[in-house]
Amino acid sequence: MINNQIQALRKDIPNHVEIIAVSKTKSNEAILAAYESGQRAFGENKVQELVHMLHCIDSMRLLEKINQEAQKQNRVVNGLLQFHIAEEESKFGLSLDEAKEILESDTFKNLKNVNICGVMGMATFTDDEEQINNEFQYLKEIFNTLKNNYFAENPDFKEISMGMSSDYQIAINQGSTMVRIGSLIFGSRY
Ligand SMILES: *Cc1c(COP(=O)(O)O)cnc(C)c1O
Repeated sequence: MINNQIQALRKDIPNHVEIIAVSKTKSNEAILAAYESGQRAFGENKVQELVHMLHCIDSMRLLEKINQEAQKQNRVVNGLLQFHIAEEESKFGLSLDEAKEILESDTFKNLKNVNICGVMGMATFTDDEEQINNEFQYLKEIFNTLKNNYFAENPDFKEISMGMSSDYQIAINQGSTMVRIGSLIFGSRY
């Protein structure tokens, strides 16, 4: 079942777009679930579990925490800055101004164990495809602005994580490089 779903998605999604399976109960994704339920403080064990890419960095405090843990383990952690692009207040993320403030700070410049690889955002939960399209387009603009102003020299800064089960096609049309798919793979109740 899960296998069939993944096969179907692979057919539907171009090869250059990475599919990230979000089960919300598996340990790899537990941090996302915690994040969704409003958890803002990331304990050491959570950060230690991170392997691939942390998608939801939305504060200097979290950046420093991740850097601290990565330093202890003598490694560099890849991460994405999360932006608030939806109309719902309940969704998390930075504004462009907040991100600029972080990226221009000396504190950020001294974080040697975090490698920012791009941006992430979640669109409004709505049937209005034009609105979703505009929100993803805005995230793409944010990506371009940051790339030009802060990351022109960093080839790793190339990821735009946007698109979930209900809106991944729109996201891919707007230039998504990573889609985070939960219910389409695992069913609507995790
Ligand atoms: C749950 C979740 C997803 C996947 O959502 P679906 O709509 O089930 O595909 C993607 N990103 C984040 C951050 C999530 O918490």
